[in-house]
Amino acid sequence: MKELFLREINDQNTLKAMKAVDRKHFVPEKLQAIAYSDSALPIGQGQSISQPYIVAYMTSTVKAGDCRKVLEIGTGSGYQTAILAELAREVFTIEIIHNLGIKAKSTLERLGYKNIHFKIADGYKGWKEMAPFDAIVVTAAIQDTPPDLLDQLAENGRMIIPLGAAGNTQYLVLIEKKTGRFSYKRKLAVRFVPFTRTESEDK
Ligand code: SAH
Repeated sequence: MKELFLREINDQNTLKAMKAVDRKHFVPEKLQAIAYSDSALPIGQGQSISQPYIVAYMTSTVKAGDCRKVLEIGTGSGYQTAILAELAREVFTIEIIHNLGIKAKSTLERLGYKNIHFKIADGYKGWKEMAPFDAIVVTAAIQDTPPDLLDQLAENGRMIIPLGAAGNTQYLVLIEKKTGRFSYKRKLAVRFVPFTRTESEDK
């Protein structure tokens, strides 16, 4: 497995997890030659696997290594899911596109992860039965933070979410909950695929 380019990321937990998970398992066959490139890559159905640097950035920003329960919205290829599962005790992940959810589940089960729980649904309302979450990682861009996700964040919990219009520059925003109040910090400029609201048809 080749070295990934992770810029200024120096959180040791995150670096260890990024080393432990081979990105090639999550990249389509025909793109294997560029599996370790410093970019997002298409995974079919108009979706993409995130850039490794952004995965590392989101993972370290929410301090996944300190988490008992993490919720991820947008399983996609399952790459970010695997990184989170290396660090957190339990990971709950929701994907809206049926085929992608099924594929990621089989990849992650094949790799031996036992601490990941999958759901194929619109993640807008989160996963109430399993709340509260110590961290929430949203990997699709939306204009405003879904209120149910805020409700499902634990005290001292952290959420990272790309906020902004689809197709435009969005910003990763870190939301922290302390004594019941939310603080918002604008971080990196990013470009994520849009957060969608209806069950997509299988193609
Ligand atoms: N972290 C993933 C990123 C995948 S792209 C990876 O690195 O592979 C974002 C994913 O979010 C897409 O698979 C898209 O289908 C999914 N998505 C978009 N809106 C969603 C919603 N409302 N609920 C759940 N998943 C959603």
